[in-house]
Amino acid sequence: MSEFDLIRTFFRDIGPQRADVALGVGDDCALLNVPAGQHLAVSIDTLSAGVHFLPNCDPAAIGHKALAVGLSDLAAMGAQPAWSTLALTLPTADTAWIERFSAGFTALSNTHGIRLVGGDTTRGPLSVTVQAHGLIPAGAAIRRDGARPGDLIFVSGTLGDAALALRGLLAGESVDPMLRHRLDFPTPRVALGLALRGLATAMIDLSDGLAGDLDHILTASGVGAELALKQLPLSPLVAEAVAKTGDWSLPLSCGDDYELCFCIPADRADDVQALMPDCPFRRVGRIQTERGLICRLPDGGVFIGGGYDHFAICA
Ligand code: ADP
Ligand code: MG
Repeated sequence: MSEFDLIRTFFRDIGPQRADVALGVGDDCALLNVPAGQHLAVSIDTLSAGVHFLPNCDPAAIGHKALAVGLSDLAAMGAQPAWSTLALTLPTADTAWIERFSAGFTALSNTHGIRLVGGDTTRGPLSVTVQAHGLIPAGAAIRRDGARPGDLIFVSGTLGDAALALRGLLAGESVDPMLRHRLDFPTPRVALGLALRGLATAMIDLSDGLAGDLDHILTASGVGAELALKQLPLSPLVAEAVAKTGDWSLPLSCGDDYELCFCIPADRADDVQALMPDCPFRRVGRIQTERGLICRLPDGGVFIGGGYDHFAICA
């Protein structure tokens, strides 16, 4: 298949048709209508083979995850997904692989009403870059710099599942299917992000681990925080792993959770509990004036640990 046949067959019609797409895949540029009074929220992420996914990973999972990480960024601002673009670098034109990749990308696109409007297809080491575009009323975005002392800190879903799955895979062990699903098919918390407009003072999505990602909120907002580790939402298998080793790095600093961490003024705690989002969330701590992040252990001690850093030297 030629490059153009591949594009026509697998990438021309992904996601629902949208009235705000004046021109989609097929020309030099896509033409998109941003409604008056709305901001265009834009985020881009690359997944590289061997860095972000294992070489033998299910192509449908790669297609899903490449879009999911962008949708998670949109969710973390309270943006409504609208359009995506996709830059795909492939070692060979393996149509069976591309078909499965496209199916994973398409299923998640349909779930969130996001339309693929353009991209680029080249030959080289396997790498996938997705740009996610969303819409948000001007002034309504939930940024990292709005947390204030006294705000309550919440986290959605559960933490550490993907990291525990990856640890098992790298050790050549059989991995629990629920954990494996959390690693390969993360769920971007789009509905929760939208529901938090006008309520959350600051928000971030958890891609590098709660400790490091929350620290971005703290730095941007000029505040500190205390987390109560016994409050962290953990699946039974992660809770067991933490209990066995006393090591909290799975939920705190390993990443790939794609949950939301958000801050709420204490006097609006009832409003947040009344939300009916697409996933549960739990209160895990509080913003304070003193800088720094304190992770309080169940026994009252303090856990020291950081986020995942691609350029740090990791064991
Ligand atoms: P150009 O040479 O002008 O960059 P291309 O030949 O790269 O155009 O792409 C032709 C059309 O196909 C463009 O509209 C581009 O946006 C689209 N396209 C290319 N690759 C992809 C892809 N992987 N997914 C979606 N659209 C793509
Ligand atoms: Mg091109």
